[in-house]
Amino acid sequence: MNEPSIFTRIINGELPCHKVYEDEHTLAFLDINPVAEGHTLVIPKNQVEFVWDLDEADYQALMSTVKKVGKRLHEVIGKQYVGQVVVGTDVPHAHVHVIAFDTPGEMKRTLDGPGAPADNETLANLAKTLQFS
Ligand code: 5GP
Repeated sequence: MNEPSIFTRIINGELPCHKVYEDEHTLAFLDINPVAEGHTLVIPKNQVEFVWDLDEADYQALMSTVKKVGKRLHEVIGKQYVGQVVVGTDVPHAHVHVIAFDTPGEMKRTLDGPGAPADNETLANLAKTLQFS
């Protein structure tokens, strides 16, 4: 068994997060270094390094949550588009970035690595607004 990743520790409640959505198989929470307002990470509860390592059921569950979160961001953040990106060079626990944007440049920023650390209270308030079940 691998060492628990930082995301597994979030799932287990050992570390805090600004939760947007949770179900039996997945968790969605705000990135602490967002590249845009509402930048959300969607993760499987099963710890595997890469999205492509997930079994089919967990992959489908992950993508189903990505879709729900994408729709939610579109409603709440009020930007024209929502994109999803898989990078995975920082945290060895599969995750999908979901980001609302108006111009492709805003979306491309995700590929340059984490954004700037966000203020905790700002993230807490935004998570409250975005949260759905
Ligand atoms: P990637 O592995 O796809 O390159 O990026 C990992 C992402 O996870 C980064 O955007 C980084 O800001 C985010 N991240 C890393 N550690 C934490 C954490 O403890 N909490 C949250 N909410 N996000 C994190």
